[in-house]
Amino acid sequence: VGSLEARVRQAEEQHRLPREAITALLAAPEAEKSLAAAADRVRRAFVGDGVHLRGLIEFSNICRQDCMYCGLRRENGKVKRYRLSADTIVELARKAKGYGYQTVVLQSGEDIYFTAERLAAIVRRIKALDLAVTLSVGERSYEEYALWRAAGADRYLLRIETTDEVVYERWDPGMAYANRVRCLRDLRALGYEVGTGTLVGLPGQSLASIADDILFYQRIDADMVGIGPLIPNPDTPLGKAAPGDFHLTRRMVSLLRLLLPEANIPATTAMETMVPHGRELILASGANVVMPNVTEGDPRRNYALYPGKVCVADTPAACRSCMSGRIRAMGRFVAKDKGFRHHRQHGG
Ligand code: SAM
Ligand code: SF4
Repeated sequence: VGSLEARVRQAEEQHRLPREAITALLAAPEAEKSLAAAADRVRRAFVGDGVHLRGLIEFSNICRQDCMYCGLRRENGKVKRYRLSADTIVELARKAKGYGYQTVVLQSGEDIYFTAERLAAIVRRIKALDLAVTLSVGERSYEEYALWRAAGADRYLLRIETTDEVVYERWDPGMAYANRVRCLRDLRALGYEVGTGTLVGLPGQSLASIADDILFYQRIDADMVGIGPLIPNPDTPLGKAAPGDFHLTRRMVSLLRLLLPEANIPATTAMETMVPHGRELILASGANVVMPNVTEGDPRRNYALYPGKVCVADTPAACRSCMSGRIRAMGRFVAKDKGFRHHRQHGG
């Protein structure tokens, strides 16, 4: 335990750790509290007490891919498919602005009805509302990403899921790990703030590979890292898999904060789904972002990645006041700015 504590201190002071030390801390439930406490201090020092709320618009659950864990996979005949119109998406963004959100996240399955031009037009309309726009619509070409960037999109979320190429290609059949990495590189080159992350608990994923994920995020200097445990969906091939470990995920969040001190790190819905008030625990363990859902009505229910997703029965307005109350109760506050990544001052 003594040497683990020394590693936590080293991470807090230097923001660097060798792979073996990261793996050892991921494996150590006994280090979880001190990891979280150190991550909470680093979070406060580097990104402050503000929690950024991003309004999540789930605008289509139609997907051409077949990821083995995801309820939106094309082979799943049980999900009721929907696609919101451009007007509805812009209207939800306008409402998000009314709730006080400064950013909207447009997320969907890989729905190619939304050609680059169609989505660019929507981005332009939302940018006219003075909102930051994050896109999370999967793998596309450099040219498509470039068009959206030119339309004003600020950020892009594309989880690498796992940096173990073999595990990645087993659970995302038909998708190539190299293309996922190519997408992240293209997004960076185009000047997006780049968000990525890990799906914790994919069968075959090792702790050493999770340590590699963290080192990968350091190497690409990820602006945002969103991680969550696998929640098995019975309507998918991974329906009988063991769920991802909440506590391992929490240790990973804390390590991410220690090793990428400036990054935006969300407390994800999957964490709350696994453990009541899981989001608060994660906000106190290094995270500084929450993504409340602003999708309304049937689509809110039908964007069913996994069963038991929290807050699907609530209205977006109720989510807003619930989240801000919970944030204030922690002694934190809802940030008023758009929440771009903090950059360390150099040379001063
Ligand atoms: N289609 C886009 C993509 O895959 O990047 C964006 C939407 S996708 C539903 C967003 C994330 O949901 C994925 O990156 C994956 O990590 C997560 N996800 C999917 N199924 C899940 C499950 N059963 N449990 C936990 N997370 C899941
Ligand atoms: Fe489609 Fe994304 Fe789900 Fe994969 S994770 S099936 S790409 S929505």
